[in-house]
Amino acid sequence: MKILIIEDEPKTSEYLRQGLTEAGFVVDLARKGLDGHHLANTETYDLIVLDVMLPDIDGWRILKSLREAGNQVPVLFLTARDSIVDRVKGLELGADDYLVKPFAFAELLARVRTLLRRGAAGAIDTRLTVADLELDLMRRRAMRSGQRIQLTAKEFALLELLMRHESEVLPRSLIASQVWDMNFDSDTNVIDVAIRRLRAKIDDSFEPKLIHTVRGMGYMLDAATEA
Ligand code: CA
Repeated sequence: MKILIIEDEPKTSEYLRQGLTEAGFVVDLARKGLDGHHLANTETYDLIVLDVMLPDIDGWRILKSLREAGNQVPVLFLTARDSIVDRVKGLELGADDYLVKPFAFAELLARVRTLLRRGAAGAIDTRLTVADLELDLMRRRAMRSGQRIQLTAKEFALLELLMRHESEVLPRSLIASQVWDMNFDSDTNVIDVAIRRLRAKIDDSFEPKLIHTVRGMGYMLDAATEA
């Protein structure tokens, strides 16, 4: 799942980026309101962590503009001001939840997970299933044939992407941007290595094979394709 952090303070933003990345999320960080607003309008995120006080345009305006444009991405507000007026304003503008600074990271993570479970339209899938492979997005757990499979954060994100796009060929460029947050001209060997490791875990000891290489195009997860 992909999260956008819009926060200008270097310490807080780095702390959030690191913590959320370690928790298995793909994270984009914007330190300016306008940059964040642009990213929110051009990329697809599962959630936005939005600071209220930003040096250029403030969090209120970003949120208002997103909602007016029909963007229903869940938004968690960060506010340094422990003021009821602020909280009410944020919620009225369409924020889904807020945290008052300073906060414990564990608290933020719990809020993020709750918002993701609830989802933008209340219908987000938190459990993905293909054949006997199951991915529990909330518990961060993978199972195949009832056996628990240990995945790294990147392997989990990769498998999640493949499962969300079951039976679709995913180009390496798309995988790179969604899982590694990098451009296609970066070292795509990283993707092939990760796919090999993921196969060793979810396919080698099981039938049918689910991850398929589509020569010259990319990768696909599908239960019905012959190897
Ligand atoms: Ca700030």
